[in-house]
Amino acid sequence: LFSGRIEFIKSAPSLKFLPDPDVPEIAFAGRSNVGKSSLLNALTGRKSIARTSVTPGRTQELNFFEVGDPTVMQLVDMPGYGFAKAPPAVTEQWRKLVRDFLRGRVVLKRVLLLIDARHGIKDVDNDMMRMLDEAAVGYRVVLTKADKIKAEELEKVTAETIAAARKRTAAYPEVLVTSSEKKMGIEELRAAVLADSEI
Ligand code: GDP
Repeated sequence: LFSGRIEFIKSAPSLKFLPDPDVPEIAFAGRSNVGKSSLLNALTGRKSIARTSVTPGRTQELNFFEVGDPTVMQLVDMPGYGFAKAPPAVTEQWRKLVRDFLRGRVVLKRVLLLIDARHGIKDVDNDMMRMLDEAAVGYRVVLTKADKIKAEELEKVTAETIAAARKRTAAYPEVLVTSSEKKMGIEELRAAVLADSEI
């Protein structure tokens, strides 16, 4: 499926601009710089389907990609969060967009919450998890940039992340470990996205 048609369809800076809710959606969320664009590119096997934002924290839009011909699912690139220099108004706008989307999007099947394996779960990630729990949107935690740390460190972070996810009501109990750079965990990620779109 991911080697076939994948097409960017639109950016939605507010809910008015959302595409029609016709097919199941899987959304990707995470802190700015977590490696979300790289993972979307690795998942879809494209070089630059998802653009790396030039100024972190500036893009406050939901980006939609159609997958399949005919379209069987949509991928949603959610705006990154946790950019230290973001003015409060920008953070507030982000919160409103994300919260309203999570609460109101009936076709949203699952969110993939990306966590940088070097850093583990931070306060801003816990905020995001709380929003997901409150919106009752199921999510999977995905560790990114696994190639950047040593095997024993990765094992420790993975165990800690699984333990944290298990405490959350809406979190899927397993954690996917990935590296876009080394193409690690990408097949597992594809399988998870496909399975989640079919629930
Ligand atoms: P985004 O802001 O979440 O979309 O993050 P990007 O995908 O733009 O990645 C941020 C930075 O991390 C870039 O410099 C990427 O090259 C780097 N990066 C992303 N994924 C990986 C990975 O799996 N391994 C390594 N070593 N670097 C990565």
